Amino acid sequence: MELKLINRKNTEDNCENTEELIKKEIIDIMYYGDKLEIGSDLVYYMSRWGEFMETNEKCGGPDSWLITFLRWAVKDRLEEFLDYCDMNSSIYTIKAIKGLKKVYSFKMPAGGAGLVRPAYWRMWGWLQNEAKILNFDNRYNSAGDKQTEVICPFCNLEYGEEIERYCEHFIHSGFPDNMEYLQWGKYDFVINIMKYINEINLKDFKFLTKGLKIKKYIKFELFDSQEDLEYAIRGASNKEIKIMYEHFISTGMNSAIYTWLFINDMKKVKWIFDDLKVVYDRILDYDQHHEKLL
Ligand SMILES: [Zn+2]
Repeated sequence: MELKLINRKNTEDNCENTEELIKKEIIDIMYYGDKLEIGSDLVYYMSRWGEFMETNEKCGGPDSWLITFLRWAVKDRLEEFLDYCDMNSSIYTIKAIKGLKKVYSFKMPAGGAGLVRPAYWRMWGWLQNEAKILNFDNRYNSAGDKQTEVICPFCNLEYGEEIERYCEHFIHSGFPDNMEYLQWGKYDFVINIMKYINEINLKDFKFLTKGLKIKKYIKFELFDSQEDLEYAIRGASNKEIKIMYEHFISTGMNSAIYTWLFINDMKKVKWIFDDLKVVYDRILDYDQHHEKLL
């Protein structure tokens, strides 16, 4: 999934106003942008909406932006949206679907008669109905611990013994530390770069990539998460690197993410990891010569 980075500049925020930021991003695209086709951009905004939904239940009635956005984004095309998510699984699709699941779990207030019913329908009922028709429950909730089949995207071997024995592309699989940090196996310093960048208060990010080929793809000053770094790496890798995500649904709203990293031709992408290693060393060096934080 390639992501066009629209309206994603995010340099001055901090955790406290993340919610305001999400709201602003979504309102901007909804009212001032073009209607989005089903695709990576829409998935991105749905994931932001999903993040907000995770912590907010009371949304202020049928005209709240949370509901207006949901209608704008997926009404009458939920199936297409879910199909797209299935085909292009990523941390963004997972967050988007988490939000949808939450809406799906809402119950009409007790005594849902009179005016409550049409209001509820306008808010969440329509989505629940569309989801029900699509067998949403089976699609996402009864998967249990079933592991979906994972196939190497480069040689089509199946995950398991086949891959371990014959596939040259498989690098790593595992659960991330948390939702934010994927594991990169022996390229773990990729994670550390993002963790440390969040911790050091860098005045000038540009020196990190100065003189490196990777600077064309990575603009740390625009980043707000490790996912951004991951997307930049994938952009730079010209489809040589595939990160696949799966998630196991356990109970209720909890799901865990499992990821696989495949690299097609290491010779072609070695420069990316070499450059990132330089970036990492520069961060460590910076830290040594400034107030020690790491
Ligand atoms: Zn393979």
